[in-house]
Amino acid sequence: MDEAAERRASASSSGPHAGAEPVLSKNAAKKLAKRQKYEATKLERRAAERLKKKANKRAKWTAQQASAALESGGKGSVRKTEVAPQPKAIFDAKLVIDCGFEDLMNDKELSSFGQQLMYLYSANRHAQRPFSELIFSGGGEPSCLSYLSEDQHEAVPIKAQTESAGANIHESRVGQAMNGKLRGVWKRWKGVTIYEHGGLERLLRGDAMPQQNADNDKQAAGRIDLKDVVYLTADTDDVLTCLEAGTTYVIGGIVDKNRYKALCKTKAEHLRVRTAKLPLTPDNLDAVEQRLAASGETATGTYTGRKVLTVNQVVEILLGWTETGDWTEALYKSLPQRKYKKADQSTELLP
Ligand code: SAH
Repeated sequence: MDEAAERRASASSSGPHAGAEPVLSKNAAKKLAKRQKYEATKLERRAAERLKKKANKRAKWTAQQASAALESGGKGSVRKTEVAPQPKAIFDAKLVIDCGFEDLMNDKELSSFGQQLMYLYSANRHAQRPFSELIFSGGGEPSCLSYLSEDQHEAVPIKAQTESAGANIHESRVGQAMNGKLRGVWKRWKGVTIYEHGGLERLLRGDAMPQQNADNDKQAAGRIDLKDVVYLTADTDDVLTCLEAGTTYVIGGIVDKNRYKALCKTKAEHLRVRTAKLPLTPDNLDAVEQRLAASGETATGTYTGRKVLTVNQVVEILLGWTETGDWTEALYKSLPQRKYKKADQSTELLP
């Protein structure tokens, strides 16, 4: 059958609505597919460009420091590691993004969470020392609502959908938000495991876990021991001093402008996993401020931002640490610089 006859046959066999959708020629279909692929990867490319810009800025600063050091007779403060390109090596630890909070977010927050997933994927992919695996866990049992305090229930934007508890992430609102942004592309992200059997509660292995039916769970072998897990949360007193190989770090997959304070800490306690916060300590922040002042990149000042960061900012800071082993460096690279204000501009000083 020639192309025109093929088109006629397909139109006549497509039922009463056949006229509504024009049948595309091979060429037009090809063009459309190409366009769709381009659109689907657009956000991912943007994220990569954003990181590249950051890296360029940093490289420029390093180069300036190097030439200043040369001019002053080689007595500068540039360390060799900053100039020499490092070979890419994997940091042998997993990062779980706990995507079990979708019922607590409105559509806008979900969409922004989807964007953050994209940024963090891109950050890990382009890092000098990426985490060995990113795992996106799904909705869990019990429902995320059970981790809220009584007054926080009033802040839940949508009526909880009980059937989403334990749901496969692909069918969840997170999955839908991701599909809306990236079509199917995110499902094929390299180095990412989409845990399809439910939430963090199912992914972790330990005596306190609910009944886990290993026979029905293909990923049972991949379960992670509770003792090897650290849930990151700004609401704990324990400060992260370093990242350890063999440990799995969990980040709460939620955008909430902190209206559910201590939500993830409560969940971690319920699961009996350790918790830790990033070392946004006065000493480290002072060191970052001095670093910024020296680079002339921003006004000297105090960090006025909140200590509860977005999911992708946390990942970028962790990757900064895996690359340099130095929190000042990691924070310098990834804390939002617009949050540094001169003392007289500061409105919201940190405790
Ligand atoms: N109210 C939420 C805040 C979500 S912020 C909560 O209860 O955690 C998104 C996630 O980023 C947090 O769940 C946490 O895993 C991580 N995070 C944000 N700021 C952090 C910090 N200062 N230290 C450690 N983890 C942090």
